[in-house]
Amino acid sequence: MSEKDNGISRRDLLITGSTIVAGSAMGVSLAVDDAEAAKGKKIPQVPRRILGKTKQSIPILLFGAGFRLNGTFDPKLAEAFRYGVNYIDAADCYGGGTCEAAVGSFHKRLNNRKKLWITSKSDQHDPKGFSSTVDASLKALQTNYIDLYYLHALKDKKYLSKELEKTVAQLKKDGKIRFFGFSCHNGNVVELMEAAAKLPWIDSIMFRYNFRQYGDKKLNAAIDKCHKAGIGLIAMKTQGSASSFEPKWKQFQKKGKWNKHQAVLKAVWADPRITAAVSHMDTFQKLRENIAAAIDPQKLTKAEVKELTKYAAATRSIACDGCEHICNAAMKENVQIGTTMRYLMYHDVYGQTEEAKELFGALPPEARDLEKLDFSAATAACPHNIDLNTHLKRAAKILV
Ligand code: SF4
Repeated sequence: MSEKDNGISRRDLLITGSTIVAGSAMGVSLAVDDAEAAKGKKIPQVPRRILGKTKQSIPILLFGAGFRLNGTFDPKLAEAFRYGVNYIDAADCYGGGTCEAAVGSFHKRLNNRKKLWITSKSDQHDPKGFSSTVDASLKALQTNYIDLYYLHALKDKKYLSKELEKTVAQLKKDGKIRFFGFSCHNGNVVELMEAAAKLPWIDSIMFRYNFRQYGDKKLNAAIDKCHKAGIGLIAMKTQGSASSFEPKWKQFQKKGKWNKHQAVLKAVWADPRITAAVSHMDTFQKLRENIAAAIDPQKLTKAEVKELTKYAAATRSIACDGCEHICNAAMKENVQIGTTMRYLMYHDVYGQTEEAKELFGALPPEARDLEKLDFSAATAACPHNIDLNTHLKRAAKILV
């Protein structure tokens, strides 16, 4: 990353001090104003909530680091930290495996580990593998403890076993992790949350949650149970899995102060059961917009809620929920439909072009060889009748 990125230099961030002031011509974007800091005005801070039974206070906006950070010093992390976003959501596999080392370099430079919350994740879900990944993460992160450690993208509740419970207890006793939980975004989020609500050793869950799901009774019941059990809930994939909808995406009408990305975050924060939303803030623009939305206490207006609801309805038939056990079963080839649709979403909606390509490239060859396949049976099986022939063939072209 260059020294100057979007007008803010590393020197500005580290030395001069700068203040973000809400209220530009757009009404929502943020501008840097060194003069404000010079006048001694306090830098506005993103509000905080308590993460369930951990009783720890975290910002409502979390820095999702699922992209390639600057390995020496990422100024976006520094900018976020200044506005109270002191929670980094990492994983050993993010950024092509470079994420934890970059976060380690950042916090060493920051020299304020106690003020920084680091979450990381393991793709090894058996107790032995999980434990060894914790050790590898500690090394990469250059720290002797991790605040929260998740089983990454959990799909099967069998891994929430007695053996894992013992491993987690030992890791906590050894001071290697403070809290434990899992992330999930596939079709069985409800099943996993229902199971977790009965397990007192689960401190937090990060799960797919967005404006499309507010009327989902089963999901709401599972959220209620987890919330009642004191499990700290973090929302991810808040943009609503709008993969492949580039044209529709642009149809969201801005009816008030907030653009769509901001409006969907506001919608998640309106749910008091949710402690925070994680957002991949890979550009300064996203960072500023998200911070502005978090800091501004104004709730969504009726017109904004109406527009979001209208948008959700208009795109329902093309929004993939990740329940790929349904559509994959309709294919004889070893494809990963929901996963591929998710990578398409990263590409189209989150703008994570390179990350999406890397992830797609890491799938087995038969899961990438999509252009000659007929997905009609999978479309027929899909509860939303998503036109998979169009979307997956497009994915195979643009994600290479
Ligand atoms: S394509 Fe349909 S069935 Fe397949 S994961 Fe997406 S929503 Fe579920």
